Amino acid sequence: MVDVNKKGDVWVFVESLGSKVEDTSLELVGKARELADELGVQVGAVVLGSEIAGLDERLICCGGDKVYMCQDPLLAHYQVSSYSKVLCDIANEYNPSIILFGATSVGRDLAPRVAARLGAGLSADCTDLQIGSHKDSVTGKTYDDILLQICPAFGGNVIATIINFDKWPQMATVREGVMKMPELDRNRKGETIKHTVNLSKEDLVVEILDELVTEKTVDLKGSDVVVAGGAGIGSKENFKLLWDLANALGGVVGATRPAVDLGYISEEHMIGATGVTVRPSLYIAAGISGALQHQTGMWDSKKIIAINTDPDAAIFDVAHYKIVGDFNEVIPMMIKAIKAKC
Ligand SMILES: Cc1cc2nc3c(=O)[nH]c(=O)nc-3n(C[C@H](O)[C@H](O)[C@H](O)COP(=O)(O)OP(=O)(O)OC[C@H]3O[C@@H](n4cnc5c(N)ncnc54)[C@H](O)[C@@H]3O)c2cc1C
Repeated sequence: MVDVNKKGDVWVFVESLGSKVEDTSLELVGKARELADELGVQVGAVVLGSEIAGLDERLICCGGDKVYMCQDPLLAHYQVSSYSKVLCDIANEYNPSIILFGATSVGRDLAPRVAARLGAGLSADCTDLQIGSHKDSVTGKTYDDILLQICPAFGGNVIATIINFDKWPQMATVREGVMKMPELDRNRKGETIKHTVNLSKEDLVVEILDELVTEKTVDLKGSDVVVAGGAGIGSKENFKLLWDLANALGGVVGATRPAVDLGYISEEHMIGATGVTVRPSLYIAAGISGALQHQTGMWDSKKIIAINTDPDAAIFDVAHYKIVGDFNEVIPMMIKAIKAKC
């Protein structure tokens, strides 16, 4: 177990595919940089894999101080048994005080196993992380410089702050897209540490015969314009209007969970607490009531236009421009106006 009294670094478990570090990991390195600066410690990025050469440079440019390279043919494919063993070995050796994971399918699988093996706690699906203090109501002792792990709880109806002050490392998974992508500084200097991996074939529980990589068909996070529709759109056919508006603006189409559940659009378009987090320059919400679970995925958008027949819809609380009206009338007018300008 990591010593609570030692001032350790802030670590990020890095996910990569081929020669590319996943965006979620880079976002986490950016956040780790902020936390480490506040704590006066360093940022460590831990990379596991069989062909990871060169990834350290990018991680350092994004804010990493030390990159721990764990390279071994047995780490070619992610497996919870081997990855958790290596991560725990290295954590026990260097004593980080914080370890962050993306709330991806890998992060959600790996982090609990690592937490259990290290005897630490874990907060899942955090949407923000801060440094703060906590006074223990039982002992009266105040703990400074601890990680405040902020995440939606009880179905997203409350935002909870979770702390972990006596079992370290403090560990959290962080939702994809909620942290800002750090700026690349090509002049940053850091240290690459080659960690000797101690694995045998017995540490692998699954034999991987083949790997199939499927490309995403929609890039919600990377788009500057998102036109999103909710249950109020009423049908898959009606969603065509949103596609037309998105095309006219060079954007993509997003949706609420009910719109997905009703079969109006596929799941990869879902925005919100259990979907993707977006922060485009323009977010147009049509037929969306504005439940907290949806808002958490879009409220950082720079300009929000909401179209709703209900003047009291919660989406209007976060909208910069409020259009009380039927999307069937409003959206064709928008498309006409955009086309007239082009
Ligand atoms: C654990 C949990 C996780 C969840 N995760 C998510 C998530 O990730 N993303 C998400 O979106 N939801 C999520 N939800 C669901 C969420 O609570 C809301 O139910 C959902 O966001 C509401 O979707 P909606 O706005 O499409 O539908 P509704 O709430 O039914 O709203 C439809 C809106 O359309 C308006 N409308 C109707 N007709 C028109 C018209 N002709 N023109 C204009 N406006 C019209 C209505 O006035 C209404 O405001 C989650 C819920 C739970 C419990």
